[in-house]
Amino acid sequence: MSTLSRLHIIVIAVLGLAMSMTRCFGWGGDGHRMIGAIAQSQLNEQAAEAVKGLLGDETLAEACCWADKIRGEKEYAWVSPLHYINAPRDAKTVDLDRDGLDGQQIVSSIGKYREILKDSEKPKEERILALRLLAHFVGDIHQPLHVSYKDDKGGNMLTVTHLGTRSSMHSVWDSGFIKQHCKKMELSWETMGAALRETITPDEQRRWSQSLDPVEWANESLVLTISIYAKLPEPPKVKGADDFTESDAQHWMPTVADRLQTAGVRLGAVLNDALGSSK
Ligand SMILES: [Zn+2]
Repeated sequence: MSTLSRLHIIVIAVLGLAMSMTRCFGWGGDGHRMIGAIAQSQLNEQAAEAVKGLLGDETLAEACCWADKIRGEKEYAWVSPLHYINAPRDAKTVDLDRDGLDGQQIVSSIGKYREILKDSEKPKEERILALRLLAHFVGDIHQPLHVSYKDDKGGNMLTVTHLGTRSSMHSVWDSGFIKQHCKKMELSWETMGAALRETITPDEQRRWSQSLDPVEWANESLVLTISIYAKLPEPPKVKGADDFTESDAQHWMPTVADRLQTAGVRLGAVLNDALGSSK
């Protein structure tokens, strides 16, 4: 083997390792867009106007994706740890005294950017940034694996095969199940988002928007994370087969749908609270 091709292989291996160690950043674009579209439908007139005043032509659905679009940009490196929170393996709830990292996690970030958005005295640019980050983080905190464990980076280090492709368990939860569902039902993110929006009952709407405390949202995700780890896929009997079978996808898809709906309703409620009354 020539030195050059040897070097190539090393470079590719190092790059591959670096990429596999990069933490994924939440629901894929489709999940975040659905959450934004559901939230938009929840806004009262004043909040809708205020959102439009800040975002201009950018839809709330697109604003929900902004924090993933800027990943990799040096000036926004500080955003990376804010997409998630880690808890110890035996924890049943998150504890900000123990897991808080001086505010450098998702729970405190939601509180922080909500306050900035609320404050109409703040410069517009600062409030636009706050809205984009808040819209993204309210989505992420409802992805169970964004409230999970440091040792495997929220399932990013757990490699599985799903739909014939090797990826991380985190990525299956971010987008794999959603893609599988959309393909099977021939849905786009718009039509899946509309179906989710239309099936939210008044009782769910009331229940989900009752508490706007992100600690409670994180605790719900941690309960799900515990059940996800308790039901990790068995090694497949057939060599090369998927780790996640059709029945695994059917088992978890209602949870995925429920978390997308809940996040959408709560993002709407948070924005109504922050922007929905004239101040
Ligand atoms: Zn994220």
